[in-house]
Amino acid sequence: MKFRCLIVIFALGCTPAEATKPAVDLPAKPAKVEKLTRSNEEWKKLLTPQQYEVLREQGTERAFSGALWDHHRKGVYKCAACGLELFSSADKFDSGTGWPSYTRPVHAAHVESDVDLSHGMKREEVHCARCGGHLGHVFDDGPPPTGRRFCINSVSLVFEPAK
Ligand SMILES: [Zn+2]
Repeated sequence: MKFRCLIVIFALGCTPAEATKPAVDLPAKPAKVEKLTRSNEEWKKLLTPQQYEVLREQGTERAFSGALWDHHRKGVYKCAACGLELFSSADKFDSGTGWPSYTRPVHAAHVESDVDLSHGMKREEVHCARCGGHLGHVFDDGPPPTGRRFCINSVSLVFEPAK
């Protein structure tokens, strides 16, 4: 009887460690996306001037100037403003444009889009579903499996390496 109790305690002791072990580098389920609203003044304090210009004023970094267009490590790319997981290294491809490019977001619910009619073009703008931060644009000339090209500013993203 005493021996059996010890086995039970040992088994219980092992379970939590197994359960919390990070098995994958990607969020398996969409996060519960609750809107995050901050004033421009608050964003100015939290973001660098370049992040503010792109994320809050729909700016675009110069092609081949960002930190992530030629970045090939395995992990997740998160919103630089609010930390929501947006893109995975598994969906990143070399588009030759000088901006980090992905065939899809980690979860469809993590990005939203708008029609952008600026600069005399009709484009599909994409932004973070949680904080509204501008990420870039999406085009229909991407590779399989989606045929989509999410053309994203490096400055809108922070990279988290796979564990
Ligand atoms: Zn965000």
